[in-house]
Amino acid sequence: MENNKKMRTWLDDFQLPHPLVIAGPCSAETENQVLQIARELQDSKVSIFRAGIWKPRTRPGGFEGVGEIGLKWLQKAKAETGLLMAVEVATAAHVKLALEHDIDVLWIGARTTVNPFAVQEIADALQNTDKIVLVKNPVNPDLALWIGGVERLYNAGIKKLGVIHRGFSTYEKTKYRNNPEWQIAIDFQSKYPDIPLIIDPSHITGKRDMIFQVTQQALDFNYDGMIIETHCDPDNAWSDAAQQVTPERLKQIIFDLVIRKEDD
Ligand code: PEP
Ligand code: MN
Repeated sequence: MENNKKMRTWLDDFQLPHPLVIAGPCSAETENQVLQIARELQDSKVSIFRAGIWKPRTRPGGFEGVGEIGLKWLQKAKAETGLLMAVEVATAAHVKLALEHDIDVLWIGARTTVNPFAVQEIADALQNTDKIVLVKNPVNPDLALWIGGVERLYNAGIKKLGVIHRGFSTYEKTKYRNNPEWQIAIDFQSKYPDIPLIIDPSHITGKRDMIFQVTQQALDFNYDGMIIETHCDPDNAWSDAAQQVTPERLKQIIFDLVIRKEDD
């Protein structure tokens, strides 16, 4: 993977690499799990470590995240590895805690982007922050709702804004967990070329064997980065076990990706 594309977003102003690589577990599970994964990602192309602390599970009764204690583990992982830390926030209370623990990147999940009240509450809590804020597409294939979420954050004075394409729910079973509907993300990209577009092949595919192919497809469409769920023991992960890859496999995927030159 080489850095050979013309730069065009705020990622360049803050010297973040292109393509941006975000990796880490679906969920923070234990302090050791967080530290072990972060250590294995330290000397790689990964610049941002992701881990869910509050998990929006579709059905109740499953693992819903470790909560605030996980923020302390991320602080430790950051101090040790220098990786930037990213968590999902769904409420103003999450935002407050994430900011208090100096989390660098906050992302809004697909189940939150569908709700303008929730996005507005988050935007108000983030008012003028210089943190990086990433907005996942809503679960339903609605470009305007995705744009609306980004606008609420932009209007709150947030400048380091990016979007994550994680695919869309369908009732019919397809080979994807969430159908990519590439055209929606491409339309977003053509309307807002200055906003970094990041692929989430983990939630699109739901299967670790398909991660490479979907990420390559996104890079062929000139995406600016990727967020890939990574776990040292994927089969025993507490959430999204089938789609997580090991740090070793992630490094191989990154090595094998072909980056298109701007003028190809
Ligand atoms: C996640 O990133 O682990 C997650 C819950 O994703 P999404 O909001 O895309 O379902
Ligand atoms: Mn997940």
